Amino acid sequence: MGNKKLIIANWKCNPTSQKEAEHIFDVIRKKIVDFGLRKNIEIVICPPYVYLSSIKHQASSIKLGAQDCFYEKKGAYTGEISPLMLKDLGVKYVIIGHSERRKYFGETDEIINKKMKAALKVGFKPILCVGETLEGQKQGEGLNVLKRQIVTAFKNVSSFKFRTSGPIIAYEPVWAIGTGDACVPEDVLKIRLFIKKILMQLYSRAIAEKIKIIYGGSVNSKNAADYVKEAQVDGLLVGGASLNAAEFIEIIKTVGN
Ligand code: PEP
Repeated sequence: MGNKKLIIANWKCNPTSQKEAEHIFDVIRKKIVDFGLRKNIEIVICPPYVYLSSIKHQASSIKLGAQDCFYEKKGAYTGEISPLMLKDLGVKYVIIGHSERRKYFGETDEIINKKMKAALKVGFKPILCVGETLEGQKQGEGLNVLKRQIVTAFKNVSSFKFRTSGPIIAYEPVWAIGTGDACVPEDVLKIRLFIKKILMQLYSRAIAEKIKIIYGGSVNSKNAADYVKEAQVDGLLVGGASLNAAEFIEIIKTVGN
């Protein structure tokens, strides 16, 4: 699964036109060329589905990701986008179980488990998002929530599938997303170790070592490097700041230096 640091952009439901999406992408792409992307970083951009094909033509060294995917291959499921459709567009990564999908679209751990299996089946690298809410944290339930989310997402998922598709776990405390209130690296480090322990129990030490753990939640160019150095995460999931091409490039530079 390699030692590259992952910097993943989640554009969420933005921007509102193809022209703007292409522009943001183009600025990022050109700056990366100027900067001379270091071999130890993998950049993934997850735009809304509708911009994937136009961005694909400019993708170059940047990998394409989707913000979600359905668990069936095809059929009478109005409005859904299947993993096969995304694969056909050149998608390599897929975000699964983002807290906004859990909160606004009723995604349960069981649905997320189905999506995990479907994504692995077509060879995607699933980015499983886990994280506790503020209430959960206050009630001292944070770690139990994380454990439940991870154990259910990987229920009946054989590690055999990980040979080609390395799943990634993104620790994204819900209270830190889009709030400017980022989790301190010291706490992210503790959670990272906790997640590794769960993976060891579920699979093995070797598998736990291979699965990348990244952090997301109000990451910006000022705090990005601390997560990689102090919390020892394998990368970052960046929401709001990834829509600002200059800021996103700064994040890549600080992690790459
Ligand atoms: C996210 O949406 O996954 C995220 C981390 O958002 P933000 O960076 O805006 O907090």
